[in-house]
Amino acid sequence: MSKNRNTPGGSQRRKRIKRALARRDGACCWYCAGDFGPELEGATVDHLIPHTLLRTWMLAALVLACEPCNRAKADRLPQEVLRPRFAPGLVPVGADAAA
Ligand SMILES: [Zn+2]
Repeated sequence: MSKNRNTPGGSQRRKRIKRALARRDGACCWYCAGDFGPELEGATVDHLIPHTLLRTWMLAALVLACEPCNRAKADRLPQEVLRPRFAPGLVPVGADAAA
């Protein structure tokens, strides 16, 4: 195991993670839907579940975010900063009457 846990694999690995996230979610910011384009210009990897709570680089815990959104979200949980257009897909606990 490498000691360098903060940036596993460096920029090459990070680039692969970004491409995998773009394939899954589209090449846009998960929060504001800003388009990164095919080269993922300005895309950062954001820990949907704050890294301080769940120390993992599993794709399931990661999303693409633009720099301003990543900074704005910081260590807050995703439901605190969810973009409105994503909200219809999320049913809050106890709100299953709509189903
Ligand atoms: Zn954004």
